Amino acid sequence: METKQRLAIIQQQINETCKKIGRNPEDITLIAVTKSVSSKRAQTLVDLGVKDLGENRLEGLLDKQENIQEKVNWHFIGNLQTRKVKELIHKIDCLHSLDRMSLVKEVNKRASEPLKCFVQINVSGEESKSGITPEEADTFFEQLAEYENVHVIGLMTMAPNTEDESEIRSVFRSLREVRDKITAKQLPYAPCTQLSMGMSNDFMIAIEEGATHIRVGTALVGSESEEDE
Ligand SMILES: *Cc1c(COP(=O)(O)O)cnc(C)c1O
Repeated sequence: METKQRLAIIQQQINETCKKIGRNPEDITLIAVTKSVSSKRAQTLVDLGVKDLGENRLEGLLDKQENIQEKVNWHFIGNLQTRKVKELIHKIDCLHSLDRMSLVKEVNKRASEPLKCFVQINVSGEESKSGITPEEADTFFEQLAEYENVHVIGLMTMAPNTEDESEIRSVFRSLREVRDKITAKQLPYAPCTQLSMGMSNDFMIAIEEGATHIRVGTALVGSESEEDE
């Protein structure tokens, strides 16, 4: 399938899901996750009007940035090693994987202006996933107060890899509940109104549960082995 066709399908699914539940599709940011495809494929998406690209490794990000000239919003969505912050920080618009205090400190130290961040929450409690637990959120957010270059715009999570739709939905719903509690505190350094959740297999459920940013890879970009005519 062509990239153009895949994009049209995703956009239609976003529109239909929004219509069903009375949300405005303009409130959903579609992040094309290009980590597994070439810069050429990423360029095709940009040419089709995609304005947000997501990468999970520094090397992949640098490669895409070397090859794409247009102004796009660069999202970093992967686990970030503290020692890579210095090189990464001035190259991204948004960090989706703020998951520990040591990373907060390093971002704060290296950034020259406040960086938009999502705090990653491990809702499902799976050991393979990073992120703070929902129980740790209150304390974590209190501690953020003294780090002026860390500006938390929302929460991020990954649903478990399961066919069980109700399990996925409950993870997204829990993230929204944690978000609502933080938002209610009205922290100036952490408005935390956004929700980064939903990937290829579950973005429609995520939109129904309040996602503002969906991170779509395979369903949108295909795989490099597939031709893109
Ligand atoms: C790879 C990745 C995605 C996209 O996954 P797909 O299933 O290919 O849509 C989204 N978020 C994160 C954090 C990822 O690492």
